[in-house]
Parts: sequence; C-alpha cells; structure tokens
Amino acid sequence: MELSAPSAAPSASPRCEERLSECGIRPTAQRVRIAGLLLSAPQHLSAEQILASLRAAGARVSKATVYNTLNLFAAHGLIRQLSVDGSRAWFDSNVEPHYHFHDLESGALIDVPVPAVAFSRLPSPPPGTEVAGIDLVIRLRKKM
Ligand SMILES: [Zn+2]
Repeated sequence: MELSAPSAAPSASPRCEERLSECGIRPTAQRVRIAGLLLSAPQHLSAEQILASLRAAGARVSKATVYNTLNLFAAHGLIRQLSVDGSRAWFDSNVEPHYHFHDLESGALIDVPVPAVAFSRLPSPPPGTEVAGIDLVIRLRKKM
C-alpha cells in the first residue's frame, strides 16, 4: 500500500499555536509542527504517516515523541483518535461528530455526516451509565 504523504513542510503558523493554547496544550515548537501537519486540511492520518512526513521534511523526531504528542492532542480534544481496524491508530483532524467509511483495499477513511445515519434501536446502557458517543465504521470492499 502506498502511503500518500501529507503536505511536506507545514509552516509553524500562529493559528496552530493559538489552537494548541485554546485546547490547554503548551505550544512547543515540536507540537506546533505536528499540529500544523495534521490540521492543514480535514484528513485522517496514522501516526506512521505523520512520522514519515516529519522526517521527510527534515525533522529529527522520535517515534515516541510523535505518539505521545498525538495522544496528548487527542486527550485535549484537538484531534480525534479513531479505532478502525485495531492494527494502527488513525488521527482525525475533524473533531466534529461524524462517522466513517473504511475502504478495506486502500485503507482510506471517508467521512460520513451524522444526518446520513439513523439508528432505529439501541440497547439501554447499564445502570449508572449513559451513552457518551457512538462510533460507526462502515467497511467497504469492491463489489463482487
Ligand atoms: Zn473523519
């Protein structure tokens, strides 16, 4: 599978710094750089793709730093972590509520707007709990 590299040289824009600060994240140079890469467009990127892009752009950054930064961003609501297939973590720059198509062949994730889906029945949550959110991944394959 060919991984398309996201825009290679993100500029450390003041807007990214602002968004980090708004989410309660101290905007270090490395965090601003990683945020700039992810937030440059509505997109879904794996940690591996982000690491590859940063290194291609000449950044000396460890895998652990990228993972820790992405987890920090997700914990603060700057980005959303997606559980798609268990084999890798995907990060979504769109934190508005939405669902996903997942193309099994290409690995691509495609946004599905909430109004496009209707749930006719859901189980009652266990006593003492309430539904905090619903994830929906619709897996796609080529028509047989
Ligand atoms: Zn999405």
